Amino acid sequence: MKRLSIVICMLLTLGIAGAARAQSVSQCVNDDERYVVILSMDAFRWDLADRCNTPTLDSLRRVGVYAETYPVFPSNTFPNHYSMATGLHPDHHNIVNNGFYDRTLGRDMSVFRLSDTRTPDFWWGDPIWNTLERQGGVAHIYMWPGSDVEIGGRQASIWTLYSSKPSYYERADWVVKSMCGEAEDSRIPNLVMWYFEEPDAILHKYGPDSDEVLPTIEYIDTVLAYFFREIRRSPVFDRINFIVTADHGMAALSPDRYINLKGSIDDSRVVRVVNGRPLGIEVEEEYLDEAVAALNGIDHITAYKRDAMPEEFHYGTNKNRITNLLVLPETGWSIDYSDRERLPSGGAHGFNPFDRDMHMVFFGSGPMFRKGCEQRSFQDLNMYIIMCYLLGIEPSANDCSWDDVKDMFVSDTE
Ligand code: AMP
Ligand code: ZN
Ligand code: ZN
Repeated sequence: MKRLSIVICMLLTLGIAGAARAQSVSQCVNDDERYVVILSMDAFRWDLADRCNTPTLDSLRRVGVYAETYPVFPSNTFPNHYSMATGLHPDHHNIVNNGFYDRTLGRDMSVFRLSDTRTPDFWWGDPIWNTLERQGGVAHIYMWPGSDVEIGGRQASIWTLYSSKPSYYERADWVVKSMCGEAEDSRIPNLVMWYFEEPDAILHKYGPDSDEVLPTIEYIDTVLAYFFREIRRSPVFDRINFIVTADHGMAALSPDRYINLKGSIDDSRVVRVVNGRPLGIEVEEEYLDEAVAALNGIDHITAYKRDAMPEEFHYGTNKNRITNLLVLPETGWSIDYSDRERLPSGGAHGFNPFDRDMHMVFFGSGPMFRKGCEQRSFQDLNMYIIMCYLLGIEPSANDCSWDDVKDMFVSDTE
């Protein structure tokens, strides 16, 4: 990457008043630089936009690439966002779920506790912002899981602590400022990653098939209309490749689809229970086969030995953070191992990533994406290799499949 001219231009623009700044930045734009802006809308299931008025997403679909993507296992927020960031399956990046028991440390850990996420060795892999900056690029990351801690001794040039407080308009303004060279360090970043926690929250509350969720979907679309209007101010607008995507889908729950597993196996031989989807149960090793067989006698659930998970889940080699027994309910079913019943309602994720309820959206638009292209489904961890390609950087070791995504780009001959 040719950065020298940018540095010289930045030095020249120092001290120039704000009003003149955007123009100065535009004069400094280096034609070799590549730009990617990626937004994750948590739990934006594949069918949500079709159920209400979403002119912005509809037009993104027309002008670029659309795909129905699917999550890595388990289909939860942190494993998936960090798989998109690293191109690795959760076994390999160490964020095996939102919460887990760490055998070496001997305690439960949560991705939602900063004191846990800042523990040495908490994260593995090389997130895209570090891959990029090591090769001379600049990343500004706005609340993408994993961006608010040092990983491998480094962090993006600009990052923010997670907070659900800023409105989505404020977040859009943050990105626009960055891409206009108006952020703290006044360099236009090659990569911006940003995040909305909706529609996840509303889908959990009312369930994905309810009408109550539709105003939130339309609100997101309105924010996106604002964003795509404002971002045109960026002096590099014509060269930005945009991705709008999500981390998993959502399935409807029902109080009629609930199973409490307590009493189905010998509780005295259970060492610990790790709540979540999948439900983790650590049992005495000599009792493992018997416990798996007993649980598999129950309808609507599948019990797995950690060491014999289906190959397509790529899950179970991370022995430090995964219990020796895992129970996955059928999509839409809730399970518990508890003394009290907790009847479910609303929606949830964490189910089999290959079930369509867990699938989500991918929109890619900009100079390097084909126009009006329906791309076949691909797994979200490939976002890493997509971003590396768009940025023109060398990827670190990853689990991505280039064959699954390579057709979405404009070829050199087009
Ligand atoms: P879940 O539905 O439990 O898989 O997680 C979704 C929730 O994760 C959202 O509602 C956010 O509150 C939370 N979340 C998302 N990103 C972050 C982050 N970077 N740090 C902490 N919490 C986050
Ligand atoms: Zn999520
Ligand atoms: Zn959620």
